[in-house]
Amino acid sequence: MSSPTPEFLSRLVSIVGAEGHSTDPEVLAPHLVEWRGRWRGNTPILLLPKTTDEVSRIVAACHDAGVGIVPQGGNTGLQGGQIPGAHGNEVLLTLSRMNRVRSVDPIDNSMVVEAGMTLLAVQQAAAEHDRLFPLSLGAEGTCQIGGNLATNAGGIHVVRYGNARSLVLGLEVVLPDGRVWDGLRALRKDNTGIDLKNLFVGSEGTLGIITAAVLKLFPRHRQVSTVFAAVPSIEAAVALLGHTQHRVEDAVLAFELLPHSALELVTRHIPGTVNPLGEVSPFYVLFDLTAPRALAESVIESALENGIVTDATIADSPSKGQALWRIRESLPDAQKNEGASIKHDVSVAVSRIPAYVAEAEKQIRALIPDCRPVTFGHLGDGNLHLCVSRPVAMRDADFLAMRDPVNHIVHDLAHEAGGSISAEHGIGIGKREEIRRYKSAVELELNTRIKQALDPRGIMNPGKGVG
Ligand SMILES: Cc1cc2nc3c(=O)[nH]c(=O)nc-3n(C[C@H](O)[C@H](O)[C@H](O)COP(=O)(O)OP(=O)(O)OC[C@H]3O[C@@H](n4cnc5c(N)ncnc54)[C@H](O)[C@@H]3O)c2cc1C
Repeated sequence: MSSPTPEFLSRLVSIVGAEGHSTDPEVLAPHLVEWRGRWRGNTPILLLPKTTDEVSRIVAACHDAGVGIVPQGGNTGLQGGQIPGAHGNEVLLTLSRMNRVRSVDPIDNSMVVEAGMTLLAVQQAAAEHDRLFPLSLGAEGTCQIGGNLATNAGGIHVVRYGNARSLVLGLEVVLPDGRVWDGLRALRKDNTGIDLKNLFVGSEGTLGIITAAVLKLFPRHRQVSTVFAAVPSIEAAVALLGHTQHRVEDAVLAFELLPHSALELVTRHIPGTVNPLGEVSPFYVLFDLTAPRALAESVIESALENGIVTDATIADSPSKGQALWRIRESLPDAQKNEGASIKHDVSVAVSRIPAYVAEAEKQIRALIPDCRPVTFGHLGDGNLHLCVSRPVAMRDADFLAMRDPVNHIVHDLAHEAGGSISAEHGIGIGKREEIRRYKSAVELELNTRIKQALDPRGIMNPGKGVG
């Protein structure tokens, strides 16, 4: 990669104008660090283009000069893919000024949005037309839909609607040579060759910059029942998932597992949170059903009868439902108060989760006695965040020095169980080396060839992702 010269930077400024860039260290600072402080970078300039044409001209200039370019959305990614290199030779580009709804079509149930809209703004725009855009995750007020598509984000509604890939019909992408691919088609069926949009979804900004998308819309839920249930084991939680799906068919909207250690962390550190049940249980399940309360009650009654649930509460108002979800959503913040933790984002088949978690936690405890595993997450998708907080008496640095052996335990076991070492957070910088242990030579070569075909000069988000 070339270093950006003053002349090159002037060329970029002439494309975006005074309002479309910054070199002010105070403005740049929050864009140069991942939110937990795990990765830090540098850049000579932050670019804030307002149109696809400006993005196209910026990328063409980078291509001509051989300068690396890093797309950044809301900077909520958890693998550092959005942070430029520490050497400071890459330009940073965010689409936060490209935040318009281009059109909404309630008959086709689709909307065209610019990639810099926050996920929350996209959800709200859909709601204004009495439609639902179902992607939902803890960072939704900050993350951008472009970042969600670039990471193929998951979130809490995957069990019902699939991940970001399932929610997009078409894309507009600025390619690494500056050309624009206009794939903004709203078709549900289009078998005219390779589905190009799927190359860019999940490619973490390494193949191009997503500037706009056609999203799928759905009918809004008229009724949601939120249930918080105590279960004696992870086996029981898995049984409750099957039990519930059998009774309500596709009305399971979200299905999350929390161990007692998670509830305890949240109630200790997040003001206003309490255990919603009278009893302490080894595990809890928090789930939403798009079904009337009476159906949720009958699901719980039969689960109590056959012993897979020992206690439960059903929220009797939306605000009580939100209070239950706050427990789940504030867990990452609560964990920060407990010192260093080593986090994972694995998936295995739902049926294999109980044995997988038991073995992983057993091996980690043998490696680091007194460490505190907090395994929680999207049980309905077979996707758990196996997080390990440091022993109370251990220094952060000593604990983090064990990251590689802990990762190998968690990832080797997931791989042996036919699972994935990154179910929803991508590869970024954080798993770039680790993924080489698990992807086959054929997969690695295909990734590299696709990267080389689209970005032969290697300017698009250098050093990130698989290829
Ligand atoms: C509290 C919290 C909860 C979270 N919960 C979830 C969850 O449940 N499920 C989940 O999947 N993730 C979750 N995440 C991770 C994160 O929110 C998602 O990965 C999100 O999709 C990232 O979006 P972003 O706009 O912040 O992207 P960024 O972090 O800015 O970027 C992420 C990657 O996408 C690339 N990128 C960004 N915008 C574009 C674009 N327009 N074109 C091309 N490439 C681009 C970047 O280069 C980078 O590689 C959570 C994060 C936090 C902090």
